[in-house]
Amino acid sequence: MVRAFLTDLDGCAIDAADPKGIRAGQALAMLRARGWAVGIVTSRTAAEVAQLWSLWDLRPPAVVESGGALLLGDLPDGALRSRAMPTAFGPVVPLGAAADDLWESMRDAVEARADVRRFRQLSDAELSEVLGLPTEDLARARDRRWSEPLVVGGPRESRTLLGAEFERLGLHAADGGKLLHVLRGSDKGRGAAELLTALGSAPGAAGSVGVGDAPGDVSFLQIVASAFVIRAEGKPHFPAMLAALPRAHLVAEPGSAGWRRVVAALAAAAD
Ligand SMILES: [Mg+2]
Repeated sequence: MVRAFLTDLDGCAIDAADPKGIRAGQALAMLRARGWAVGIVTSRTAAEVAQLWSLWDLRPPAVVESGGALLLGDLPDGALRSRAMPTAFGPVVPLGAAADDLWESMRDAVEARADVRRFRQLSDAELSEVLGLPTEDLARARDRRWSEPLVVGGPRESRTLLGAEFERLGLHAADGGKLLHVLRGSDKGRGAAELLTALGSAPGAAGSVGVGDAPGDVSFLQIVASAFVIRAEGKPHFPAMLAALPRAHLVAEPGSAGWRRVVAALAAAAD
């Protein structure tokens, strides 16, 4: 049985208590040393993941931009290489529509609403505030090629309604907590399915584990054998996740502390 660990980054492995993800990298290295296959499933860009790789001295494969593409990292050579395109961050397999093409199919729905703004329209100051990133990290966060994140104003229900409208247009909208990530032709679940297979596991296979914190993670947590849900400091777990994942383990300790506790428990169980 292949033990495969897939994890979201923001709000799980990385948060205000470990903003650079240094402890996250140490935890993933330890898990690998115990025989786990490790993969990332994130809304971050390939450029941002490559930055983490250099910090970690570790190159786990990553579903990036909420499922828009798969960054192969140090996956062994296999079938995916033939579908990959070269980038500055190594081979990448596109899974969803390219950003320009995607924008054309969602433009009318977005421009009809005053409470929705495109991620790429935000100033550096606004983006820094939304993402909680220092300005020197923003260029990497802006380097999006397969997804279109939106800032949706008003109550959380506004995102749900807009998401439903996108679904009718044949698009996928995933609520990442801070942003609504829109894609066409893929989502985190599709990306995670490819990633699990590439790691020698399979969707739903025994030994597959996933960790996420926001509704946008549901599609990938539904295809692992054991799902763990992290909550933010001072907040409950997302109700929408509990409804969609009735068998998930709810981690009591918030944020990256809870995430590290899950990783430590998996590593201990592997001994
Ligand atoms: Mg998250």
